[in-house]
Amino acid sequence: MKNEDWIQSIVGAVRSVVPEADTPVSLHEPSIGGRAWDYVKDCLDSGWVSSVGQYVDRFERDLARFTGSGFAVATVNGTAALHVALLLAGVKAGDEVVVPSLTFIATANAVSYIGAVPHFADIEERTLGIDPVKLRTHLEKIGYMQGGVLYNRQTNRPIRAVVPMHTFGHPVDLDSLAELCDDFGMALVEDAAESLGSYYKGKHTGTFGVLSSLSFNGNKIVTTGGGGAILTDDPDLAKRAKHLTTTAKLTHAWEYIHDAVGFNYRLPNINAALGCAQLEQLTEFVEAKRRLFSSYDASFAQVEGVRLYAEPEQSKSNYWLQTIILEPENAIYREDVLFALHEAGYLCRPAWRLINRLEMYAGMPSMDVNTADSLAARIINIPSGAAIG
Ligand SMILES: *Cc1c(COP(=O)(O)O)cnc(C)c1O
Repeated sequence: MKNEDWIQSIVGAVRSVVPEADTPVSLHEPSIGGRAWDYVKDCLDSGWVSSVGQYVDRFERDLARFTGSGFAVATVNGTAALHVALLLAGVKAGDEVVVPSLTFIATANAVSYIGAVPHFADIEERTLGIDPVKLRTHLEKIGYMQGGVLYNRQTNRPIRAVVPMHTFGHPVDLDSLAELCDDFGMALVEDAAESLGSYYKGKHTGTFGVLSSLSFNGNKIVTTGGGGAILTDDPDLAKRAKHLTTTAKLTHAWEYIHDAVGFNYRLPNINAALGCAQLEQLTEFVEAKRRLFSSYDASFAQVEGVRLYAEPEQSKSNYWLQTIILEPENAIYREDVLFALHEAGYLCRPAWRLINRLEMYAGMPSMDVNTADSLAARIINIPSGAAIG
């Protein structure tokens, strides 16, 4: 159905929600407001800008309260959080870890940092996350159980964990994945980097896995400049997460004694200060983004050959990134649509290149990823900042 009118109708649907501006509209601008200035200034005035200070503790408490998680441990970024979450979930060098093929590179990289191997799973169109039915069929086919551990028959490596990712803020089918993990003795570790403020059956994402990770990168719904957090309900895991992310140093007034090879993954106090202010605004941000979805929904209702992606049933999504999906027959026009959107000053983006299509991950274990292949070729994220909503 390609013709210039159709492409312009997509641009028009965006324009009717987000008026053209003098400078290009980026995909997701941070909204810095509320008490950010006060809290950051407090760090500067007091000199507590780095690894010690009250805002880290406060940010961790606020995160635990907001998500309903037992504990939160702040980290320098979301990738570091996932790295340590996987270690504490028992992932070791030589293990395999199931990750979606459609995700940001960090999900697979965190697995690789351990010397473990990502095993790529297809996604389902309904959630844009791991397809639990297809994964079960795949594991039944390629796996065997020994001593309560699932092994990959093709590689003889244990498949230790599953890392679902809540794509663009939309919760995956967590119940089915939790059941699958139970049945096969795998740990569930959520990459909840994109889903702060999103709920699955009324419970916050990131509270279903034994551990999970959040990100506060500059483009996320809440930013600390750069940052992340590990969530867990287990007090012992929380203590070990804090210890490992802060160089595994034993508490002592002057001695430097470390009891493990830890990581310098702590979040600086000045970043946590910004995070405290951002968290106070999170509910507002989610409401603004949900309003933005409704506006786009109305404007895209008139456009054929493309649909606006809506939150899956039983979920309440933060709508971190708004998403349109071209109908399969229009996939070939994605570049033209992106070009026209950029021409009009909307810095829209396609979905990530599938991780198992990247050079360094191409040879790794994978199920067939037909749905991910199809969707990756048709997804376009459109301007999503909370300030627009
Ligand atoms: C943002 C993000 C991360 C973490 O990114 P950092 O930049 O390290 O904070 C991890 N996984 C996904 C899916 C993400 O979108």
